[in-house]
Amino acid sequence: MHFLRTEQGVKDHLAKIKEKKIGFVPTMGALHEGHRSLIEMAANQDNYTVVSIFVNPTQFNDPADLEKYPRTLAADIEFLKNSHCDLLFCPDENEIYKTGEAPVPEINLGHLDRTLEAEFRPGHFKGVMQVVARLLKIVKPHDLYMGQKDLQQFVVLRTMIEQLHISTNIIPCPIIREENGLAKSSRNRRIGEAFLRNSDILYRSLVHCRDYFQKSEIDYLRSYVQSVFRSSDFQLEYFEFLDADTFEVINRKGKVNNIIAVIAAWAGDVRLIDNMIMSGELSSH
Ligand code: AMP
Repeated sequence: MHFLRTEQGVKDHLAKIKEKKIGFVPTMGALHEGHRSLIEMAANQDNYTVVSIFVNPTQFNDPADLEKYPRTLAADIEFLKNSHCDLLFCPDENEIYKTGEAPVPEINLGHLDRTLEAEFRPGHFKGVMQVVARLLKIVKPHDLYMGQKDLQQFVVLRTMIEQLHISTNIIPCPIIREENGLAKSSRNRRIGEAFLRNSDILYRSLVHCRDYFQKSEIDYLRSYVQSVFRSSDFQLEYFEFLDADTFEVINRKGKVNNIIAVIAAWAGDVRLIDNMIMSGELSSH
């Protein structure tokens, strides 16, 4: 596995393997099996896998979250040596946000920029787009692999790639879970003992809704999940059903075929998100 820290280093290196199809997995490190599944998908579908690790300050709306974000580079390198990563790119902040470099053009995200994650994490997607656009410019991958766990991030980046006419396919990858159903996340290692026991609450709520989706009204399912959280120590931030194609919140089933439920909740000071398809599928456009 090659290990590079600079844009020029990566460009020079990739120029030597021009004929290869590059699969790219951007991460913020503290790697786990969720990341590994993306890397394995890339290794299966492309013939050169690039992983980046960069804790991107511009996407953190909460400075305390940025400060507490786990940084485990030595362990991550060992992890990657045991996966199918060909090149690890670990830039520092100055390398990504070079002075004088033009910011990414404004992207019209429409309601994606106002609801759910965008509402509760102001500025978050702007930061995500800034970093991913820069990374794509450096790596120029054929395929970009993103987890469905961060569903809105996937839709935002798909929109950005379309609007900037970037010639990269964006591929959604399934959510990898702990044994109890909790979606794997770098932040999980910060969940306190008191919350761990009940940390499957998001997953259980989603599964219940999926199991009863055909027979129940949306209002009823929403109230059910709200009541589950009211009788727990977890703080529900949002729980909604979305049209998976338009990302609009839906209150009645009507004619929508592809429906996905999304949830965000706090386990003390750790924020967790998850989602699950209720009917139909998640289209990748
Ligand atoms: P992060 O390091 O949290 O920025 O995540 C890097 C990539 O891994 C993103 O595309 C995430 O959606 C994806 N990812 C994170 N957790 C999971 C998971 N549990 N299952 C699948 N993909 C994941």
